[in-house]
Amino acid sequence: MGTLPRNRTESQQYNEDKLGFGDIFTDHMLVIEYSDMDGDWKNPQIIKTENLSLHPAAMILHYGQQVFEGLKAFAGPKDTDILLFRPDMNIARFNRSCVRMCIPTLDPRIFMDQMSELVRTDRDWIPRSPGTSMYIRPTVIATDPHLGVRPSKKYLFFIILSPVGAYYPEGFEPVRIMVTDKYVRAAMGGVGEAKTAANYAASLFAAEEAHSEGFTQVLWLNATDKSSIEEVGTMNIFFRIDDEIITPKLGGTILPGVTRDSVLQLCRAKGMKVSERVISIHELVSAAKSGKLQEVFGSGTAAVVSPVSHFRYMGHDYMVADGKTGQVARDLFDEITDIQLAKKPDPYGWVVNVG
Ligand SMILES: *Cc1c(COP(=O)(O)O)cnc(C)c1O
Repeated sequence: MGTLPRNRTESQQYNEDKLGFGDIFTDHMLVIEYSDMDGDWKNPQIIKTENLSLHPAAMILHYGQQVFEGLKAFAGPKDTDILLFRPDMNIARFNRSCVRMCIPTLDPRIFMDQMSELVRTDRDWIPRSPGTSMYIRPTVIATDPHLGVRPSKKYLFFIILSPVGAYYPEGFEPVRIMVTDKYVRAAMGGVGEAKTAANYAASLFAAEEAHSEGFTQVLWLNATDKSSIEEVGTMNIFFRIDDEIITPKLGGTILPGVTRDSVLQLCRAKGMKVSERVISIHELVSAAKSGKLQEVFGSGTAAVVSPVSHFRYMGHDYMVADGKTGQVARDLFDEITDIQLAKKPDPYGWVVNVG
């Protein structure tokens, strides 16, 4: 193991089997600048990865006007293959997030072309060990040096790349999640459905509290009466109760995950009973008590599928079925990763080869 692509240079040497998430960066980045003088994104450039130079009054630093995305590139079966998974979904979501945050959108074609060019530039960095991939992080920040509150007039769009390790190097590790009725992630009319830094800043305190009690993630409830289940904060959430696959329906406060959408399509194609609907925490608790709760799992780009073994609500701990990874989560993980790596037919045209 630990094979390194032949043509990786000295600076590109890293141990593929020890990769974590988001610690190592490739040596190129893409930058595109926007100024309202021209009213357009100008001059895409692939440059050496370097520190940004920002005026201390740059508006991102004060009012947090920012949007980001996350997707992965995989080495495919052929040496030249570079496979992206549903990049059009990330680009469309990026632009929707931008609209909500008063940031000018990017032409989806320019976004796709430039992102592909960057990934090709650093292609020798793409890891090849099982489960590894190249994480792509497109980001836009407000750069106008100005302290009055208004949308910025200048922006920097950039994409950085980070080789990431296998999420489950030793097989699935089900996680424990803490349902909070004390903090909220997003309220109706807020920015919960935008992929923006603010949602993460707002979630850290609750996550730290959960960690200190031995839980990996927080399960968020709706802001008003804290009765219905929303999402996990970096993942959408699925339940299997009495053979119905349930995920909370979107509606403004939940991030519309690409993995969520893929899971829904695959489950529907298998003929399973699939519902996007309101699911209350009380329904979950009573399903756990009556033995009807078969599976709980999160969905997101980083883990693909993340099985949940336990949850805590109001000081009570509940185990999900026998506490082991369920069959649906296992099958979905295998199916999605096989499609991503072109090991299986891709009936939905999800994979784009940019090599
Ligand atoms: C990115 C994200 C997800 C998962 O979305 P994917 O497109 O599946 O990676 C879920 N919840 C939040 C809050 C997110 O930011």
